[in-house]
Amino acid sequence: MIRTDSELILEITDLHACVENQPILKGVNLTVRAGEIHAVMGRNGSGKSTLSKVIAGHPAYNVTAGKIQFQGQDLLAMEPEERARCGVFLGFQYPVEIPGVSNLEFLRVATNSRREKLGQAELDTFEFEDLVRERLNVVQMDPAFLERSVNEGFSGGEKKRNEILQMALLQPVFSILDETDSGLDIDALRIVAAGVSQLATPTSATLLITHYQRLLNEITPDFVHVMDSGKILRTGGKDLALELERAGYDWINSTNKDQEDN
Ligand code: ADP
Ligand code: MG
Repeated sequence: MIRTDSELILEITDLHACVENQPILKGVNLTVRAGEIHAVMGRNGSGKSTLSKVIAGHPAYNVTAGKIQFQGQDLLAMEPEERARCGVFLGFQYPVEIPGVSNLEFLRVATNSRREKLGQAELDTFEFEDLVRERLNVVQMDPAFLERSVNEGFSGGEKKRNEILQMALLQPVFSILDETDSGLDIDALRIVAAGVSQLATPTSATLLITHYQRLLNEITPDFVHVMDSGKILRTGGKDLALELERAGYDWINSTNKDQEDN
């Protein structure tokens, strides 16, 4: 149940951004409140990953206009590390491999950095192992993955589960999951979706970026946004995703054109 008076988590206003001097985002507006799940859909190249990277603070993406307020703070003025510590979480479309860095140690450092910001005690190796083993259940992941280098040699599905494991440890306020469903078979998709649903809280919010309806069969979004050419062209409820699946992305363009013509 969405209450429009619930706390504002993220407010994006007229956001424009470039990559390598190419304008990609061309006026994105988006408001996300506590307890909400939003889905952003759109064809390949429409700017979905760019939006997620701009929110996370990726240095290659240059904001040329607009603003992002995160829990009342100017997000764009914050360093990427500070955004993460404050509870902005990005699950990557293509998670990076970090050879030579143990997954367990990587997760522990990240978790402790977030815990410090939350005023929670630092966890030593043994305490952290207890926590991480409990959270492994969220994604039904084999503990053996903790001993390996971060994502090194992980299959696509294992990398995505590892992203959700990070999310389970970091207690994010705002999570963006970029195409977490791509490359997953139906069983892995269900596990990931159940993990995301389990981690949703009344005080946090989630943005699911997805190309397909099938993830949205598992997680019901409160809002669906359709992105095209660097803008959100249409916003609706969960039915909008079904309509897209039926009619395809061209339908959005044509109906939007009709609206403009009228
Ligand atoms: P989506 O996630 O919706 O498929 P992206 O945000 O990845 O779309 O890409 C939007 C556009 O920005 C594409 O034309 C893509 O080629 C371009 N783009 C994104 N990242 C980069 C980059 N690092 N360098 C050059 N072009 C990029
Ligand atoms: Mg993408």
